[in-house]
Amino acid sequence: MTIVMNITPLNAWISSEKKPFLIAGPCSAESEAQMETIASQLSEIKAVGILRAGIWKPRTRPGDFEGVGEKGLPWLVNAAKKYGYKSAAEVANASHVEKALSAGVDILWVGARTTVNPFSVQEIADALKGKDIPVLVKNPVNPDIGLWMGAIERLNRAGITKLAAVHRGFSPVEKTPFRNEPMWEIAIDLKRKLPELPIICDPSHIGGDRALIESVSQKALDLDMQGLMIETHPDPDKAWTDAKQQVSPKQLKSILDNLVIRVPQS
Ligand code: PEP
Ligand code: MN
Repeated sequence: MTIVMNITPLNAWISSEKKPFLIAGPCSAESEAQMETIASQLSEIKAVGILRAGIWKPRTRPGDFEGVGEKGLPWLVNAAKKYGYKSAAEVANASHVEKALSAGVDILWVGARTTVNPFSVQEIADALKGKDIPVLVKNPVNPDIGLWMGAIERLNRAGITKLAAVHRGFSPVEKTPFRNEPMWEIAIDLKRKLPELPIICDPSHIGGDRALIESVSQKALDLDMQGLMIETHPDPDKAWTDAKQQVSPKQLKSILDNLVIRVPQS
């Protein structure tokens, strides 16, 4: 079955001085000062076009830090504006969409634990009907390309054309070096099935360990993915969530300097 989608090319809605474009910022917004610090430190790195921060955090077990919530939205939006980035936050329901858009967030993303649920994705799509806001769709936690494509299609049918897929790997059954198995073949298959859809890689959630970010990013670039989302924190070891996989802006710079961007010959 061919799925027809109306997709706006990435370069029409994200401008970056360098390719691939980069989304950077902390796993979670923690304080206004943390957002200001990270935005200021990242401003040294020209490739960063989008500042991310998790505002509502989907945690596996109850009782863990579940995000600062709505009050973090202006921290993200103001820090992004001050340093010339677009802002991006995760949304998991219609209330998140409404709050994020009212606060002026530029780009939304659907997280891996939401992409698995068509009811939630449809609720987000309905809340976005008629709005021209870019949405990034992470792959579902389980290796089901149909769910990933279905979520993208629901948003597209609601009129969202500024869409990109984010490859963040799949929950492993057995222990592997990765936090989430890349299963690159699934991203390659998505590219084959929806050639016009941009794909961005999230090496932070694939690796789960900052030592793996560079090699996973290189693999993504070798597969011609168009961007990277890399969790970046002013003091990664003290991060409230995903501390092991976050990098400092200095470490990010060194990772980027080492990446080889192979320009296709044709
Ligand atoms: C995140 O980006 O911080 C996040 C929760 O990611 P994922 O949905 O990929 O687990
Ligand atoms: Mn995270």
